[in-house]
Amino acid sequence: SANIIDGEAIAQEIKLEIAEVVEKMRSAIGKVPGLAVVLVGSRRDSETYVRRKQRACEKVGFNSYGVSLPETATEEEVLEAVRKFNADPNVHGVLVQLPLPRHICEEKVVGAVSIQKDVDGFHPMNVGRLAMQGRAPLFVSCTPKGCIELLLRSGVQIEGKHAVVIGRSNVVGMPAALLLQRQNATVTVVHSHTPNLAEVTRNSDIVIAAAGVPFMVQGSWLKPGAVVIDVGINYIEDPDSENGYRVVGDVYYAEACQVASLITPVPGGVGPMTIAMLLSNTLDSAKLAFGFVEN
Ligand code: NAD
Repeated sequence: SANIIDGEAIAQEIKLEIAEVVEKMRSAIGKVPGLAVVLVGSRRDSETYVRRKQRACEKVGFNSYGVSLPETATEEEVLEAVRKFNADPNVHGVLVQLPLPRHICEEKVVGAVSIQKDVDGFHPMNVGRLAMQGRAPLFVSCTPKGCIELLLRSGVQIEGKHAVVIGRSNVVGMPAALLLQRQNATVTVVHSHTPNLAEVTRNSDIVIAAAGVPFMVQGSWLKPGAVVIDVGINYIEDPDSENGYRVVGDVYYAEACQVASLITPVPGGVGPMTIAMLLSNTLDSAKLAFGFVEN
């Protein structure tokens, strides 16, 4: 049965590495990285994510800044908050918690984030550079970057392998596919209009599942020995659990474990890596801004 890729442990390791560099920065130049989060409205899930990000910052020694605007904020007010953080030398990463209220244009707001501080990697310039050969984005979005980091830190060879990415969203599937290509994998992207998902998946050495469909990838969909990264976060009813639901991925985990060689669990796989990559991007940004080189 498959070995488990422990995303919790790997994320913890990365955070420790980051905290060490922050300590070196502090003692060498008396400065630390800063992350600013713009939150608009009061969606409970968004508030939870923002709180987690801010707490993670504090744990590794970053300064954390934030502004919380009401649901009724105008687009101009949101843009103004972004511009203020863009201009603040203590801030090295600016992120806008999505989704924004419907009356605000996300494209406009995300496009207003300085590309030097775009630690979410959502700015079209960074996405465009990710897609272009011979160019490098300043930042890559955190969840797909976390998937690749899990593969690399688990010693998985990516070059020359056939990878399938299930899903083509801007936040996960599309950048994950581009990153795999940059690691010299041969990549197939499948999505809700692909007729032969199982067949394509069965021919793949590496599977990244990011469709948001619980239990979709069955054991019979996998090539024996495949490496499976499950990005899905799906809430399903579970009368036996204390809150009446539980979280599962896009992979039928129990079956997949019988066929795969390596697999990420849900929870405890990709999830914890997203924040670790956000911290890592912010650290990179601060290093550049400070001209800080570790020795
Ligand atoms: P999305 O809904 O924006 O995109 C889903 C993609 O999957 C689409 O491209 C769609 O074509 C494809 N798809 C949907 N149903 C399909 C089907 N039946 N067969 C094949 N393809 C199908 O979702 P997203 O934002 O990309 O997120 C995907 C999943 O990853 C969700 O479960 C989400 O909760 C999870 N997620 C996890 C993290 C994290 O771990 N930190 C971050 C982001 C998203």
